[in-house]
Amino acid sequence: MNTNNKYDIIVIGGGPAGIMAAGQAALRGKKVLLFEKMERLGRKLRITGKGRCNLTNEASIDEFIHHFGKNGRFLKPAFYSFFVNDLRNLLLQNGITTIVERGNRVFPECESAPIVTEALIRWLGKTGCQIKTGNSVTKLLVRDNNISGVDVQSNGKDRFAADAVILCTGGRSYPRTGSNGDGYKLAHEVGHNIVNIRPALIPLETASNNARRLQGLSLKNVTASLWVNGKKQAEEFGEMLFAHFGLTGPIILTLSRQAVDALDQKSVVEISIDLKPALDYNTLDARLLRDFREHSKQQYQTLLKSLLPSSMIPVCIDLTRIPHDKIISNITLKERQTLRNWLKDFRFTISGYRPIEEAIITAGGVSVKEIQSKTMESRLVSKLYFAGEVMDIDADTGGYNLQAAFSTGFLAGISANNKL
Ligand SMILES: Cc1cc2nc3c(=O)[nH]c(=O)nc-3n(C[C@H](O)[C@H](O)[C@H](O)COP(=O)(O)OP(=O)(O)OC[C@H]3O[C@@H](n4cnc5c(N)ncnc54)[C@H](O)[C@@H]3O)c2cc1C
Repeated sequence: MNTNNKYDIIVIGGGPAGIMAAGQAALRGKKVLLFEKMERLGRKLRITGKGRCNLTNEASIDEFIHHFGKNGRFLKPAFYSFFVNDLRNLLLQNGITTIVERGNRVFPECESAPIVTEALIRWLGKTGCQIKTGNSVTKLLVRDNNISGVDVQSNGKDRFAADAVILCTGGRSYPRTGSNGDGYKLAHEVGHNIVNIRPALIPLETASNNARRLQGLSLKNVTASLWVNGKKQAEEFGEMLFAHFGLTGPIILTLSRQAVDALDQKSVVEISIDLKPALDYNTLDARLLRDFREHSKQQYQTLLKSLLPSSMIPVCIDLTRIPHDKIISNITLKERQTLRNWLKDFRFTISGYRPIEEAIITAGGVSVKEIQSKTMESRLVSKLYFAGEVMDIDADTGGYNLQAAFSTGFLAGISANNKL
């Protein structure tokens, strides 16, 4: 092997986890090489938060852990080693001021994910880390249960030796950003178990064409509830969007984590939208009664204008089965109750979910049972480390996923440095 191809630490993947891991190890004096298969680092980071980059969240560590579900506790040591203020400070030192928005979400003041990405790349350059883009790692080399290097494909094949390797290849969603699931194969080949890969934070498809009729309509301040086999499982308040295939937007994406698992188990899955969550059934009925009295001479379709966005009116008329031109004073008590119930429970049968390529995050991945939470080191292969989405961790929207990538990247970088 070419002796120039020998490094202390090789990092695979130049997303937020890999950039952080490589930078932290290089800052501590190690000879570090980062491989990125795409021509540029951080392709996915550049499109986060609709281009605005929801970097993290001003929540407590306990809240963070809660948002990651059953594997949340695994992340505790990583969060204790590098958390929200550490990230905000590092960014500040590199020219990125951050601000806190609704829901404690932290964004860069410049509102630009590409600017954040470039700042991190400049920081990485200053740490002394070497970077090879357009290089795809094809194999992890292991000798006597110790990592010894990697095989790489660029123009040709090449082999690189390293005392430690940090695998940060991300998940399997948005493959055009480079995260196409390579890391699962690499880890599996050296003995790691990969927990069922599936989309999380994914839009949901609906059985009827009602969502299609409303496509493009966004609703704010509504409540969506997830029903599985007739039982309510979860509820989210906020913003959602209708699409040609079904439902999407923040609250739907959050509910999708449980919806996907229920669909995979062949359960009956429904989403109920409460269009008037501030009013309980009785209060809403009283409001309708008042409106009906005040506008007794109007047609049903005209009255609905005060209750609903206009594109929703034809759907409401169809589903409540009240004729559009019925005069309000002729609407029966039963019909009024039907309208009230529909406003509180606009229900969709969920027929499936969008392909994993469209997921914001991948659920499943390298089993965290085989990774030491205090160091991110593999329990199976000495000096092989993991960071970021390649592991079986995933959270709700809100900046939690990026913080986890940065925190686990930090811990893996300093652990690899300390071990050598
Ligand atoms: C549209 C979208 C919006 C999002 N918005 C947010 C948000 O606002 N806030 C938030 O917290 N999270 C958000 N996320 C999730 C977040 O982007 C990811 O959780 C995060 O990028 C994971 O970081 P990572 O470093 O683990 O992986 P990635 O960012 O996926 O990086 C992995 C890198 O590894 C490289 N790679 C893969 N295989 C190889 C190989 N064999 N050899 C060399 N390199 C390889 C890839 O090219 C890639 O650059 C969003 C995701 C998407 C898709």
